[in-house]
Amino acid sequence: SAHSSAKQDSTVSTYACQRRTTLNNHNKIFTDALEILAENLEFCGDQGPSLAFRRAASVLKSLPAALRRQEDTQRLPCLGEHSKAIIEEIFECGSSSRVEEILNDERYRTMKLFSSVFGVGLKTSENWFCRGLRTFEQVLSEPSIRLNRMQTAGFLFYEDISKPVSRTEASALKIIVEEAVICVNPFATVSITGGFRRGKEFGHDVDFIIKTPEAGQEDVILPAVIERFKSQNILLYSDLQESTFDIRQLPTHCFDAMDHFSKCFLIVKLKCEQETDARAARDWKAVRVDLVAPPLERYTYALLGWTGSTLFERDLRRFARLERGKLLDNHALYDKATNTFLPANTEEDIFAHLGLEYIEPWQRNA
Ligand code: ATP
Ligand code: MN
Ligand code: MN
Repeated sequence: SAHSSAKQDSTVSTYACQRRTTLNNHNKIFTDALEILAENLEFCGDQGPSLAFRRAASVLKSLPAALRRQEDTQRLPCLGEHSKAIIEEIFECGSSSRVEEILNDERYRTMKLFSSVFGVGLKTSENWFCRGLRTFEQVLSEPSIRLNRMQTAGFLFYEDISKPVSRTEASALKIIVEEAVICVNPFATVSITGGFRRGKEFGHDVDFIIKTPEAGQEDVILPAVIERFKSQNILLYSDLQESTFDIRQLPTHCFDAMDHFSKCFLIVKLKCEQETDARAARDWKAVRVDLVAPPLERYTYALLGWTGSTLFERDLRRFARLERGKLLDNHALYDKATNTFLPANTEEDIFAHLGLEYIEPWQRNA
């Protein structure tokens, strides 16, 4: 109704952590376009302008209804002239000519393809593109290219890990991870985090966070889980990053969302009902799994940080710093005014310290 739309427009915050963003996106036609523009700018190294389009898309995702006309954008935050022009063209023509152009652009298509490989980031993709490479076949037959271990696994299992992981597959993996964790510490618990915790039906990987009953028990868990997966013959790739967390170094100002906890990035075999590949007679699918095991007293901050979305996390930190004079990262919440760390047993505690209304995980799809 006109009433609810007026109310909605006047109350949308510039911070994603003050908006409730479910997966029910009423403005997909606009947000898809804006996110392609953002992605293209990232591929060109223009992070700043890219973020502006990401923020514009995120605001539209939080709206309770579809935009009906151009005037609906007037009172919304984070929509620059460029974003508004794209929206206007979509209203008038049904699509954006700039977006169509990008989708057909050789650089965009090649960067999209290369960066879809596990272990291949934007720098490597750009390097390969600039050397005239356009296909996986060309990359793999180029003698001067030395793939690292991660990229080798990325190409080897590309067919499987480029397919979305379903919620059913995520639940099956949770049982496998739980079983391995309990062998090491029967009182440790495993929770799904990342996109599945936000309610997504599909993900590019499955993220788990491990909670130990006492601090100091976390360090032995991941190496033992990896060993167990190896002995079960389900480990296809593992990159274990030992903890570099040091409580004396807090606050750490990890604005890039990287943290110092013990974690591992895995590719595991997941048994499936039907053969995925009749020729090879495989009864398994390769799936990407991330595990993080923070010290018990850091658990709540780590859980909040690993739940995402990326933009939601970014805005939580930005809000804490700019509006509250506090520093938030995956390890701690620090109050600059009193030079103290603020304790939290639950995510609700962290939102309360920041003077924010609690936002449920499924409302963090900013
Ligand atoms: P998808 O469904 O595509 O997996 P996702 O939201 O789960 O979406 P991920 O890339 O799995 O995306 O990341 C989940 C969360 O984990 C994000 O909030 C991100 O900040 C956090 N995260 C990912 N990698 C790291 C890392 N190396 N260190 C710290 N945090 C990370
Ligand atoms: Mn994920
Ligand atoms: Mn992940």
